[in-house]
Amino acid sequence: MTAAVIDGKAFAATLRARVGELARAFEEKAGRKAGLAVVLVGEDPASQVYVRSKGKQTLEAGMASFEHKLPADAAEAELLALVDRLNADPGVDGILVQLPLPAHIDEQKVIAAIAPDKDVDGFHVINAGRLAVGQPGYVPCTPLGCLMLLKDRLGDLSGLDAVVIGRSNIVGKPMAQLLLAESCTVTVAHSRTRNLAEVVRRADIVVAAVGRPEMVKADWIKPGATVIDVGINRVAAAEEGKTRLVGDVDYAGAAQVAGAITPVPGGVGPMTIAVLLRNALVAAYRHAGLDLAADAI
Ligand code: NDP
Repeated sequence: MTAAVIDGKAFAATLRARVGELARAFEEKAGRKAGLAVVLVGEDPASQVYVRSKGKQTLEAGMASFEHKLPADAAEAELLALVDRLNADPGVDGILVQLPLPAHIDEQKVIAAIAPDKDVDGFHVINAGRLAVGQPGYVPCTPLGCLMLLKDRLGDLSGLDAVVIGRSNIVGKPMAQLLLAESCTVTVAHSRTRNLAEVVRRADIVVAAVGRPEMVKADWIKPGATVIDVGINRVAAAEEGKTRLVGDVDYAGAAQVAGAITPVPGGVGPMTIAVLLRNALVAAYRHAGLDLAADAI
């Protein structure tokens, strides 16, 4: 193996510690804790795990955590009314509604109901628009975490060729916007892209956010490129009845060619919640009218 391993777990721990320091400073200045509310509808096991970790890490960072659980058959109006209450609650700086929502609830309607200045997931069209035009807002946590790892590794990204595979609203599109803002030459690939291997071979930076196990092969990677693997795919393990997690990139192969690569697990995954806490803290400073230097976190 030649590639350096990008340790997202360690980076996320450092980021959480920094959020913790700033959360303490916030409490001293504002006379209250920064607060993050998480709403879970239904009992999807993966969502329950995420929500539990978010609550635990919010408390560990010295912030207030408000958890709201609604039954799977809760009416859309009930969820919208809860979002309204959280919008109006001065102790709540950030609101996250865990996705996916049950099929009878319109996700876009719920996201649109969150006050843009509490939308720490960055999914509201106002925040997507702010990102597109370069105004301060809230950027989706996973792509912002990817950007932090890239800048930590490479420093100035200006002029680099970046290929983002995937164009979802939560990962691919905001990732492309962030890389463009860093003056990369950005290509966004998707399921209709022709000659994907050739497109990826041009890239100094590859971000794979597809959801297909080990789709990106070693011979697609330009030697020395930096590879960020967002994919989380559960596949059968060698041992019968067991499963394991793999990314969208053939890690073992790509690590022979790339300059640096994120592992799965332990790469991008741990960054998401750490960035969520960071966004909630930024929201708290903004709500309290307190200064937080742009490079403070
Ligand atoms: P989506 O399913 O919303 O988007 C997948 C994208 O991949 C689409 O744009 C799709 O193209 C594209 N795609 C599908 N098949 C191919 C193909 N054969 N070749 C090229 N492109 C293809 O997924 P998400 O963006 O939500 O998530 C992507 C992955 O990242 C998943 O594995 C998910 O689990 C993971 N993830 C991890 C997070 C974390 O680490 N914390 C957070 C969020 C996601 P098209 O638009 O044409 O259909």
